[in-house]
Amino acid sequence: ANNDVRINCLDENGMTPLMHAAYKGKADMCRLLLQHGADVNCNQHEYGYTALMFAGLSGKTDITSMMLDAGAERDIVNSVGRTAAQMAAFVGQHDCVTVINNFFSLKRLEYYTRPQGLEREPKLPPNLARPLYKIIMTTNLNPVKIVLLVKENPVLVDVAALEKCYQVMDLLCKQCVTQQDMNEVLAMKMHYISCVLRKCVSFLQKRDDTLEALVKNLLKGRDSDGFPQYQEKFIRECIRKFPYCEATLLQELVRSIAPVEIGNDPTAFSVLSQALMGQMALVDADYCNTCGEKGADKRCSLCKAALYCSLACQKLHWFTHKKMCYSLQEQDADLEEDTPRLKPLKAIKLISLLIHLNPQTVQTSTFKEETCQLHTIRNL
Ligand SMILES: [Zn+2]
Ligand SMILES: [Zn+2]
Repeated sequence: ANNDVRINCLDENGMTPLMHAAYKGKADMCRLLLQHGADVNCNQHEYGYTALMFAGLSGKTDITSMMLDAGAERDIVNSVGRTAAQMAAFVGQHDCVTVINNFFSLKRLEYYTRPQGLEREPKLPPNLARPLYKIIMTTNLNPVKIVLLVKENPVLVDVAALEKCYQVMDLLCKQCVTQQDMNEVLAMKMHYISCVLRKCVSFLQKRDDTLEALVKNLLKGRDSDGFPQYQEKFIRECIRKFPYCEATLLQELVRSIAPVEIGNDPTAFSVLSQALMGQMALVDADYCNTCGEKGADKRCSLCKAALYCSLACQKLHWFTHKKMCYSLQEQDADLEEDTPRLKPLKAIKLISLLIHLNPQTVQTSTFKEETCQLHTIRNL
């Protein structure tokens, strides 16, 4: 607060206090400096690093989003032409990469909460902006997760409200495609969320069970192997319905998914989330069987094969998991630690497909071949 202090002063390497705080992962200090006018896009560093780059390198997702919220530019490159996302990927901070690539400012959504031009009322009622923003910012694209996010907010469980939301999502999708720096990834994400919201509307119109039936349909596994067919078909349909058929991303997704028989790997979900989120689908296998949330640490106590993030998720899944649980128990007894998940050839095909989908991964890759091989071998 003292005017004599130069908040953007530089040290001998051209680093500002904000850069230091971001690099060292000090969230409180970053907040304090930003509140007092620290320049988030200062680019005087000797190698052209910005505070966002340092945040990405630190691996702290909260600081990374703080920089973005403060208006950090994502396209600034350092002295060797790398963006913040590419640098974070290079050191293996994939959660930060996801945060940077998926950033969407609340201001952009709030634009629709004010009447524009001759409009008498805004396209989006102001009370829907926050809950919708939470859905837009999700880094877990599992349709069950998105429906649960809708369900947890009573203002959204309403046909009229959801219609307003998906109309705005469609407008944002169009904007992402037509804007000067076209962003196909964000456009696809907007379109996909819009499709899930439409699905919610169609279920709300048919029944009055507040979306329970939709969650069940999405989770229901087929009798032969428990594969969630409805979910797979739904995601494929969403991708197919993307309205801008000349988009390269759409063509790549269709090319990757179309030849795969339903029930085989890769699933439409894994291809889509790899393309949109850049997630390392193979390396971390601890995803919740119900909502796809990362870091699931609760196991079905009977088969010990099914993973969940919470008791609520396990309960939701039980109606369909119980049909598979018994055979999974047998498998567990037969193979003990050796449950086959992917055949090596399939794994390698999937990896090459994933790399193909995300050229950034190739340039800056930390996708180490050894890691993949190890993982494949473990799963043989
Ligand atoms: Zn879950
Ligand atoms: Zn089980």
